[in-house]
Amino acid sequence: MIKRRRYEISGTVQGVGFRPMVYRLAQEMKLTGRVFNNALGVIAEVEGSGEAIAHFEERLRREKPALSEITDIRSTDQKPQNTTEFTIAQSEDADTVFTHIPPDTALCKECQDELFNAYDRRYLFPFISCVNCGPRFTIIKSLPYDRPNTSMNIFKMCDRCMEEYANPQSRRFHAQPIACHNCGSTLNLSIDSICENLLSGKIIAIKALGGFLLCCDATNDEAISLLRKRKSRPHKPLAVLFASIESIEKECEVSLAERELILSNRAPITLVKKGKNYSLAEGVAPDIDRLGVMLSSSPIQYIIMRKINRPIVATSANISDEPVITDEGTLFEKLNGVFDAVLTHDRDIVNACDDSVTQIVNGDIMPIRRARGFAPQALNLARAIDCPTIAVGARQKNTIALGFNKSAVVSQHIGDLESVSSIEYFVRTIEAFKRLYKFEPERIVCDLHPFYASTRWAREQPLPVTAVQHHHAHALAVMAEYGLEAPVIAVAWDGTGYGGDGAIWGGEFLIARYDGFDRAATIKPFRLIGGDRAIKDPMRISFAALYDYGIEHPLLNDIKNANLRRAIEANINSTPTSSIGRIFDAAAFLMGIEQSYTFEGASGLKIEALFDERITDSYPFENHCGTIDMREIFRGILRDSPAIAASRFINSLANIAAQTVKDYDLPVVLCGGVFQNKTLTAVLMKKLLRLGKKAYIPRRFPPNDGAISLGQLVYTGLPSSS
Ligand code: ZN
Ligand code: ZN
Ligand code: FE
Repeated sequence: MIKRRRYEISGTVQGVGFRPMVYRLAQEMKLTGRVFNNALGVIAEVEGSGEAIAHFEERLRREKPALSEITDIRSTDQKPQNTTEFTIAQSEDADTVFTHIPPDTALCKECQDELFNAYDRRYLFPFISCVNCGPRFTIIKSLPYDRPNTSMNIFKMCDRCMEEYANPQSRRFHAQPIACHNCGSTLNLSIDSICENLLSGKIIAIKALGGFLLCCDATNDEAISLLRKRKSRPHKPLAVLFASIESIEKECEVSLAERELILSNRAPITLVKKGKNYSLAEGVAPDIDRLGVMLSSSPIQYIIMRKINRPIVATSANISDEPVITDEGTLFEKLNGVFDAVLTHDRDIVNACDDSVTQIVNGDIMPIRRARGFAPQALNLARAIDCPTIAVGARQKNTIALGFNKSAVVSQHIGDLESVSSIEYFVRTIEAFKRLYKFEPERIVCDLHPFYASTRWAREQPLPVTAVQHHHAHALAVMAEYGLEAPVIAVAWDGTGYGGDGAIWGGEFLIARYDGFDRAATIKPFRLIGGDRAIKDPMRISFAALYDYGIEHPLLNDIKNANLRRAIEANINSTPTSSIGRIFDAAAFLMGIEQSYTFEGASGLKIEALFDERITDSYPFENHCGTIDMREIFRGILRDSPAIAASRFINSLANIAAQTVKDYDLPVVLCGGVFQNKTLTAVLMKKLLRLGKKAYIPRRFPPNDGAISLGQLVYTGLPSSS
């Protein structure tokens, strides 16, 4: 008997080769019917024997295309229509969107082979791609994902490309960015001249998938210092693009897991350890033992790197912490004089997207910045969200998140909301996501901090607003990632978060539920003199830590610090903080290894660089009814040499966390930017394991504020009034 069945497949299923796969399966099973895209995802209607349909369904679930991610398959019986063939039908438009947008993906192996095959018609074509690779999120204006809805809409396919586009047997069947030398974008300059410029120490702006990159020779000291000067980025480490994994392994120690991540189709920047034969220019990543490395993701990069075969610095084109630039107009307006030449083309970047940053911690990935290759990948939630919700994140490393049904979509890294252009980028991203997902929020969630630009934006909207405490949101993000049932005991350690009691939190132990939390323990607070200003002054932080922990030190009586002394004694403009980030700053200052602020997180990286795993002991600490005193730790640091102090300091923090959570019979969650410190995280996880405890650490989203929007989204507490 002939049957007909309809399948609605949702998830990341458009632009990833799903329809041709369904077509192929249907052909093989001798089924008739049709397949098409709509806003729900992919719809397949198949007609044939019950047995063939069952077999089709089984293979549909098993053989999904490489870049796809299925969140749900629903099926219903239909009346047979006596169809005689199987077709790929026109996409349907709809009002609500449940499908997900795939991230951009690095050039696949087949396309790489064609790119360098002199007999292929796309030999050295700088925009080669196929259904398994290439731009997606960065070229999509709206869904469904079809060529007219992308920035490829201005290019008319030539006959040969059209043939491939229409052929279900082709790797480019319905590959929206399809193009060739005859019909695609063109570069403004020859790649030969760009390579000559790079080799002679020039700084080149190159249009990459998600924005412009500033590039220069990573072995040329003068080029690096010129770039740093022109970009006003004196210290922060720069990422390096390599021609091959072998050339990375010449400079760095790369573990198997790191190798796999670097070679993956996400091709993120991966932080690895510099090797014994490290030979890049000193200024690339000064004073730390790490280097951010990556391989090419776009064909333009592949062609350049093959030609010059030398590592090049590749950093987002922006001034200090402003958003990445995506168009020539802004590039010339903002960065005039920063670059010597620009390599660009006429395919527009619709959605900006930085390079992602990742590291391997305890053998598995930990994202630090989710952007190209990752965003806007969706997360399936264990529990449904009440009504369409938008969460707007914190201030630093801002991301936004949309929540509907059981899906959370977290945006690409937006950045620190500290400049006008960053705030504009934040608003633009919200608008873009609303448009892409045809999404109208009914509720907004923001940080408890009243003065964050994200909070202010939320309060200006005519919608109910809920504010979530920062460290609670950190814990909720990990709970959402793992679908953990509440409650958990969360170690929430970071730099800065508004406590709601006037203090700056950041060394918290929270018993966290979806609708609230209890503070189980915290670090004994010390004061930041001058509030926010103190954050970039490690001497001030150390002064206050010594004073408030009651430790005698010449710094306290130095005549140069008389003003600080007066301020702290009179408690003028001094905000208490329990921030572990600031404890790190004070520790590095008192060890003598970070005397002035260089970049965010530098104190941790410098302490890590001195860590010696043969030193396993730690300094004592006291926990008075949930208030943890760091006094003996600072006294120890002042007594010991930096090398010993660094190791004992990391061990002490791990000890504090392990000893404090061990009495709770609850799942342990580690969250907050401090856990980017892979040494601390690894030491702590080992200690917890010895206590018979497994820790949940962020694996799909960053431990830092990049995950705050996700945590805010799953909060179920009551709305707050403004
Ligand atoms: Zn490809
Ligand atoms: Zn063509
Ligand atoms: Fe935070």
